[in-house]
Amino acid sequence: MAYDPQARAFIPMPPFCANREVIGCNWIAPKHGEFCRACAMTALAPDPAISDAIPNWAQTEAAKRWVIDNLGRWHWFRPENPGAPPVFHMLAEGGMPVPMGHGDDQRGGGGCRAAHHSQRGVG
Ligand SMILES: [Zn+2]
Repeated sequence: MAYDPQARAFIPMPPFCANREVIGCNWIAPKHGEFCRACAMTALAPDPAISDAIPNWAQTEAAKRWVIDNLGRWHWFRPENPGAPPVFHMLAEGGMPVPMGHGDDQRGGGGCRAAHHSQRGVG
């Protein structure tokens, strides 16, 4: 089972979000190997070497999915909304954040470039 934020319903088949095994994301992705709508908004993920970074990130992403899904009731950050979606930097104290951007990102935001910004105080 995975959540389809467009239908706002759970469906029984893949493609699942690429973060399903990493942080337990339960949303569907546009294609196999891609991130769901919510995870795709995360440009930087915390360094998994940092203690508790992954469980904290998982908890934060779950809260973010809840917010994104509820804002979807007003069509915010959905495909029919022409505005640019928000970009999230999920950081932990210390270490290097991990870029999550797509190489084929059409929005021009490109997560990889964001990795050159400050590690702290963003997001
Ligand atoms: Zn996801």
